[in-house]
Amino acid sequence: MLLAARYVLPIATPHIEHGAVLVQDGKIVEIGELEVLSAAHPDEEVRDFGLAALMPGFIDLHTHLEYSVMRGLVDDLPYPRWKMQLMEKEQRLSPENWSDSALLGALEALRSGITTVADISESGASAAAVVASGLRAVVYREVSTMDKARIPTVMSQAAEDIDAWTSSADSDLVQVGIAPHAPYSCHPDLFRSVAEYAIEHALPVTTHLAGSKEEYQFVKYGSSALAVDYREMEPDRVPWLPTGVSPVTYVAQWGLFDVENMLAVHCTQVDEADIDILASNDVSVAYCPRCNAKLGMGVMPLRRMLHAGVRIGIGTDSPASNNTMDVFDEMRIGLLIQRAIDANEQFHNARKFVKLGTLDAARALRMDHAVGSLEPGKQADVIAVDLSHSHQLPTLNPYSTLVHAANQDNVVFTMIGGKVLYENGTWPTLDVERIKARAEEMRPMLRG
Ligand SMILES: [Zn+2]
Repeated sequence: MLLAARYVLPIATPHIEHGAVLVQDGKIVEIGELEVLSAAHPDEEVRDFGLAALMPGFIDLHTHLEYSVMRGLVDDLPYPRWKMQLMEKEQRLSPENWSDSALLGALEALRSGITTVADISESGASAAAVVASGLRAVVYREVSTMDKARIPTVMSQAAEDIDAWTSSADSDLVQVGIAPHAPYSCHPDLFRSVAEYAIEHALPVTTHLAGSKEEYQFVKYGSSALAVDYREMEPDRVPWLPTGVSPVTYVAQWGLFDVENMLAVHCTQVDEADIDILASNDVSVAYCPRCNAKLGMGVMPLRRMLHAGVRIGIGTDSPASNNTMDVFDEMRIGLLIQRAIDANEQFHNARKFVKLGTLDAARALRMDHAVGSLEPGKQADVIAVDLSHSHQLPTLNPYSTLVHAANQDNVVFTMIGGKVLYENGTWPTLDVERIKARAEEMRPMLRG
């Protein structure tokens, strides 16, 4: 199949006007001008999207597909109180509810041009949803406990799930990893156990880290709302003593950064020493600008991290915190926030942010050999974004139009590994009406 559009954005190389991408057997074979490629391959079916951008699918570095039904549930509380309320509401969900909630997320990812998710799941619903929908994914099994005595049980249950999820998925599309939840919900020995397990089994790891002032104060000084409210929910917890160090230093001391494929999420509360630790351990970071702003978590120091050489990509986080899985919004708001706090001569530009949502995110997951850009030999994870609307014209610079004048509704085509999984309001792998009806059915149960 020959995919064509006014703009082809390979990302690793400059964009091509009136370009085309030749896809065969699930892979990208050739990229170039439409005229040249169609002459060389006269028998190929041509799909021309007109005034649109053909680009690699977005790689969303932080999702919780199974929280999708919590969209809009707690919209006006800061992070610690948002987290408490969410934990209370999630008790109400049955396994079937989790499953349909994760499918709702998969549905949204595909229609938003997201082709790979780095998803944290405890219930296993996300693992099933990515398989059912055809999404490419790293699904990390979440673990947490502050009780040292429970660590062996927690780890053996996680190992069981990791084996089951691995055997139920297509290994070309889905990797399984492990995710200690956060410094305020994990005993330090759990970080060490996770690191040992991940190194032994060569698994990717992710964790929420340095994401709020409250978490910082909890780890360093032993105080904050998290120290009181969160632990009240589990009265058996052992007492927590201040560590005197930052969250980044703390988890590094417990061996978490010995893991080769490590992704830290949020990192709004980091200083120069923390950034050095992240860079020297080659820890990747997920930048989640909208979620961080909405829950008052702070601003990630993007320029300093990029300067230090940290691998960074964009994450949308879950609809529970962020309402939509829209990478266009993340790129736009992420760029604007950085310019607002850091009006440097060297403005972050739109092209850089499109790269953060694609190739840089693939590098963060160590998947850039396979996805993240349009290059011969890579997987055909390709999306088409319509740029023909009145609010987008004229399109002088396709990167600027994508970042400043497009959103998830403009995605008209999503292909993963050569399979078309979304096109103009249709999802061949998912029963959209049933999933939407189930989301509405769950609404009364989650309110109040
Ligand atoms: Zn998260």
